Amino acid sequence: MPFPDWTEEHETFRETVRRFTAEEIRPNAERWDAEGDFSSEIFPKAGELGLLGVRFDPKWGGSGLDYWYTVILVEELVKGRDIGAVVGLMVQCEMATSVINAHGSDELRQEWLVPAIRGERIAALGVTEPGGGSDVASLQTSAKVDGDDYIINGSKIFISNGARADFVTLAVRTGGPGPDGVSLVVCPTDSKGFTVGRRLEKVDQHSGDTCELFFDDVRVPRTNLIGEEGRGFRYIMGAFQGERLVLSTMMNAVCRDVIDETLGYIAERKAFGQAVASMQVWRHKMADYLTELEASESLTYRAADQLVSSDPKGEVTVSMSKLYGAELIRRLVLDCAHAHGGYGFMKENYIARCTRGVQNWGIGAGTSEVMREIISKRCMAKPSS
Ligand SMILES: Cc1cc2nc3c(=O)[nH]c(=O)nc-3n(C[C@H](O)[C@H](O)[C@H](O)COP(=O)(O)OP(=O)(O)OC[C@H]3O[C@@H](n4cnc5c(N)ncnc54)[C@H](O)[C@@H]3O)c2cc1C
Repeated sequence: MPFPDWTEEHETFRETVRRFTAEEIRPNAERWDAEGDFSSEIFPKAGELGLLGVRFDPKWGGSGLDYWYTVILVEELVKGRDIGAVVGLMVQCEMATSVINAHGSDELRQEWLVPAIRGERIAALGVTEPGGGSDVASLQTSAKVDGDDYIINGSKIFISNGARADFVTLAVRTGGPGPDGVSLVVCPTDSKGFTVGRRLEKVDQHSGDTCELFFDDVRVPRTNLIGEEGRGFRYIMGAFQGERLVLSTMMNAVCRDVIDETLGYIAERKAFGQAVASMQVWRHKMADYLTELEASESLTYRAADQLVSSDPKGEVTVSMSKLYGAELIRRLVLDCAHAHGGYGFMKENYIARCTRGVQNWGIGAGTSEVMREIISKRCMAKPSS
């Protein structure tokens, strides 16, 4: 089923998210962007509507739904036009918590997942380190066993929700080098020895708090281990599928919003006595982008379908959709801003603001080169030499 067969349940859920976005995000988006912070009040508000645990086990307060609902959630949240806030929410309900839902002990789920789904405790995911992000298997932050505790030392960088998080789903080295030495633990941010470093100034997503985190002899109970020791790398790679689907959907939704607005603008805007949209160069450019966007959305929906049906091809399709979307959004957003002339360079114009972020879509949750590596490894025979 490459195209979604939206049911009444999907539409009802979409309407709930649409209302939340219209009431809680869109009216605040420009101010949050200018002030460089979104309000944490959106977490409990989203939690109350059941938006923070759509795929999680109902036993812990989730809705037990599938990836199609994640797709709808993202498509609607993006219409709020504050990507920093959308990233914050998606880290909370997908990236930092899906591993606890899938592999955590019941005690961990009760203590951290339940309040995260309610939006009462904020989550961050700590994988990337100053020494590197793509090569997860080489991470250095250590967790050494001391009695019933782990003692954690090291640092993380570029961590979304880093300043506001109550806990970090943290990737640490509990064993030797390589992927089998990596584990995941829940690290509460009120632990002694934990500090938030700089809140990094980003080119875009100004409202989101993206931070350095430091761990100096931080003691956490061994019961905070998520799943089994030494399996953290596999858990992270498994969770990446959901993250990449979220990012692909975000990119498509941004492109759809930007192109719709541009089509409206060029239909009205006149130059040399005629609408810009009547000039063939722009008509053809927009026709190309509409075609590519349709292809990108179809690829993402195909990936969602494969993830829902646990089709092993899902991993490669989701990587293709992330790669394709990241390449498309760069060109589409810049050309749509260009179609706005001088207005496309003004901060008050949403499309102009979108141009700031085009480069980053090919970075988070695995760079475009990492996507190409996954695709080529899965789809091409190993060269003989
Ligand atoms: C806004 C933002 C929010 C983020 N939020 C989080 C978060 O919440 N939690 C978290 O853990 N991380 C987060 N990250 C980090 C992000 O996941 C990393 O930036 C990303 O994985 C890339 O790692 P790196 O920056 O260390 O780049 P590097 O890994 O150093 O890569 C540098 C360059 O080398 C290329 N490269 C790497 N490997 C290969 C290869 N095998 N073949 C060819 N080229 C290669 C890369 O594509 C890239 O162009 C965030 C980043 C940003 C920008």
